Amino acid sequence: MMYETANLKEVPAIFENNIKEVMQRSFDAFTLFKKITPGKRASFLETIADEIEKLREQLVPVTNEETNLPSARLNGELTRTTSQLKMFATLIKEGSWVEASIDTADNNRTPSKPDIRKMLVPVGPVIVFGASNFPFAFSTAGGDTASALASGSSVVIKGHSAHAKTSELIFTAIKKAIEISGIPEYTVQQVMGSGNTVGKALVMHPHAKGVGFTGSFTGGKALVEYSNQREIPIPVFAEMSSINPVVFYPDTIEKNTEALATMYAASITLGVGQFCTNPGILLGIKSKSFNNFLSALGNEITKAQPQKMLHSGICSSYKKGVAEMLTQQGLEVIAQSSSEAKDMEAVALVASVNAKDFLSNKHFTEEVFGPYSLTIICDDKEKLKQCLQNLKGQLTSTIMATDKDIKDFADVIELQHTLAGRVLLNNAPTGVEVCASMVHGGPYPATTDARFTSVGTTAIKRWVRPICLQNFNDNMLPDELKNNNPLSILRLVDNVHTREALKV
Ligand code: NAP
Repeated sequence: MMYETANLKEVPAIFENNIKEVMQRSFDAFTLFKKITPGKRASFLETIADEIEKLREQLVPVTNEETNLPSARLNGELTRTTSQLKMFATLIKEGSWVEASIDTADNNRTPSKPDIRKMLVPVGPVIVFGASNFPFAFSTAGGDTASALASGSSVVIKGHSAHAKTSELIFTAIKKAIEISGIPEYTVQQVMGSGNTVGKALVMHPHAKGVGFTGSFTGGKALVEYSNQREIPIPVFAEMSSINPVVFYPDTIEKNTEALATMYAASITLGVGQFCTNPGILLGIKSKSFNNFLSALGNEITKAQPQKMLHSGICSSYKKGVAEMLTQQGLEVIAQSSSEAKDMEAVALVASVNAKDFLSNKHFTEEVFGPYSLTIICDDKEKLKQCLQNLKGQLTSTIMATDKDIKDFADVIELQHTLAGRVLLNNAPTGVEVCASMVHGGPYPATTDARFTSVGTTAIKRWVRPICLQNFNDNMLPDELKNNNPLSILRLVDNVHTREALKV
């Protein structure tokens, strides 16, 4: 069947034709799919979730084999993935997400005011790059695919080679859902192959209208560059690099030394540190309590067993990243896992540096993807502020503080707000809730566009544009903007939010 995962051979002529065909089919499917009612689109998303659920028993061992992620984690991630699909189904069934707005005509005004209506519409074929560290939740049927389909866009997935079998299996569930739901055949397609060739060709194709990516800074930056080389550039929503600073304020460090050390050792080593929200930088003000915290953290890290990483590439990047850090002037190792690492296993490591050395060397602000964290010891509040100002954009910024700290360090806390898309108080940054209020995004280089999130219902906003319809007849308007509001959605009518029909 044409819609089966295409494993594109990199013979240039055939390859180019294949991509052309894939993108043409995606464009044709989009012209039909965007007209499908929200109810039918929602039921398609629910069917994908159901079909994935049916594959659970088969999927988890395959993905475990491919990624080294434990079954418990994979089962949880699978549930998150199906819930995510259902969450978008609920969103589009309710319908108000399209931000319909109506400004009625006023013929008594001089000059007369026309009838003006606005809503969000899908942009069209979206290219999704599967991420290696979330084989379900950020891959073939993950958040980017779910949000793009919910918007009414067709999707072409560039599957991740590190879990090719998983990608293939998940895609069979999508195909089944396409058949059951009577959705245009090529609404979702998946291609496997190298990013540099297949991925580039997809992004460069004129029919591509948006890109979703989670991975390395180099990868995300390359996609933006491809987009800029196009005759008509397109938005690239890349989630790339974040070291997620955590500030431990003095009063909480003194009162909760051991508990904070246990909590953060667990967060640093969770999932072998392979989370984009891993706490990579821990900051505090020099004191006896902060020293005690560092030794307690060190004790916990020593006990952490080395574990297998997702794939050999990530493991060698981690080892190289740590080795490079260890050569930087001023860095001291606090502790590392005491057990020897076997093949593809990562040793957890925490190190420290004083604020002066940190501020003089940009390398300390680079991400080392894995169970590594750097502690910055600041002489005083001013140095702490300088260190925070020295950081690039982040996904998260965490405040570990008592009420006294919150009062004493209000200016530093305010500074923490400027750094990231999500600011946390007395929680660990690992663990990203999928909900309407989530922001999984942040200033560059955490992402390419801090105005958007890749997790939660508002992730749909990446795949739409507003359209304004002026002076249209009622029968020409989409249901969302019709006078009688047939979908009963919440609309802004003459600047008032209402579900009422228009009185005409
Ligand atoms: P990656 O190397 O960025 O790859 C992700 C996807 O993008 C793959 O499909 C890859 O294709 C494609 N790609 C990479 N470079 C490209 C380019 N120049 N042009 C077109 N496509 C390109 O990420 P990864 O494989 O998941 O892990 C590698 C490193 O990324 C890790 O060691 C870590 O440092 C970082 N990472 C960060 C996060 C985060 O959330 N911050 C998450 C995961 C990984 P191929 O199939 O050809 O590789």
